[in-house]
Amino acid sequence: MHVTLVLTHECNLACTYCYAGEKFRRDMDWATVSRSLDLLFAAPRGFRDAPLDLGFFGGEPLICFDMLERAAVDAQARAARDGRTLRLAVTTNGTLIDDAVAARLRELGVQVTLSIDGCREAHEATRPQRGGRSSFDDVLRGAEAMKRAGLPLRVIAVVSPENVRWLGDSVRFLAAQGATEIILNPAFEGAWSDDDLVVWEAGLLAAAEVYAAAIRAGRPIAMPTFDNKLLAAAKGGLASCDTCGAGDRELAVSPQGNLYPCARMVGEDRDTRLVIGTLDSGVLPARTAEFVQGPLDPACGECAERWRCGASCACANLAETGTTHLPGGTQCWYEQASARIADATGRTLLDEGDATFLAWTYGRVATAAKAAAQAATIERKRRLPVVAGA
Ligand code: SF4
Ligand code: SF4
Repeated sequence: MHVTLVLTHECNLACTYCYAGEKFRRDMDWATVSRSLDLLFAAPRGFRDAPLDLGFFGGEPLICFDMLERAAVDAQARAARDGRTLRLAVTTNGTLIDDAVAARLRELGVQVTLSIDGCREAHEATRPQRGGRSSFDDVLRGAEAMKRAGLPLRVIAVVSPENVRWLGDSVRFLAAQGATEIILNPAFEGAWSDDDLVVWEAGLLAAAEVYAAAIRAGRPIAMPTFDNKLLAAAKGGLASCDTCGAGDRELAVSPQGNLYPCARMVGEDRDTRLVIGTLDSGVLPARTAEFVQGPLDPACGECAERWRCGASCACANLAETGTTHLPGGTQCWYEQASARIADATGRTLLDEGDATFLAWTYGRVATAAKAAAQAATIERKRRLPVVAGA
């Protein structure tokens, strides 16, 4: 079970692709936080006592740092009382992280994901301060504070038509900053032209070179764009936990206590079509059905990528096509391009017999024998070579 608290609608930035909508100061109060935690801790233990996930989101959640801290401490006390495993996470624009905030987040065990769109040019094309001033140096200061506190530099970079031309430079830049994970988050709803897609593919190829170079150096950088395709190949497909959990395992709470299938859908908390309940009513099953992802659209037909296609994210689909179940053309293109590039990169690393790659990819599959058997299946599908001795 994953509950995300949208702590405020307020933000100090004005990103071009922002899905939070109008920024206004409505913060979550303690009663709403506490009732949200009641909801999280009421979740059944489930298979193998699956952990409880508590996320903090916004707007910019660190504007409400005191409330985040109080929620984290209270949630940890509940977890200790109930014998539950709890994971805490925040997604932040990083501009409000100083040494004290970074140290406290580390102390609380909060996983921090920093939003930075890459090199200066890419970031400044899309993530200005409100009022237009650059936020780049402020974000870098936040990143440095994270590193000083010993927090891993986990970054999320939105790829949009405005900044895609710097994608390769951006991934190189983020790797040079010491990023341990680089999440490329495409703005599928952007106005992508055919020329943009050509530039995007070149950027993905450059990103794959960074990914491979880090593995060859024995210091892999997690990049879900490629990791997810290669892990799916190693596992023989996607597990249910790899797919979108909207309307099922995911829940977001708005500052005034409305429930949504995921945090991205909260926006200004004014679109009642996306509300699936309130803290008073609880989740209304009749409202969640349309968000639970079923099989891919019939139009996907016999597409060779069906078995590991990630185009099932309800909020990404909604943003691009206006329908939670229908992936759009840009997302479909991206799934195929990233799979093609991941497979080519994986094949090269396997041909080189790179031990780090074997451990990084196949080592994460349940057993080496299973991995080898699954890789053989993949080979039959002409994707990745068999892993000798994995
Ligand atoms: S930091 Fe987040 S909430 Fe703030 S403007 Fe950017 S995308 Fe929107
Ligand atoms: S890659 Fe496109 S056509 Fe293929 S399964 Fe995914 S969305 Fe459907």
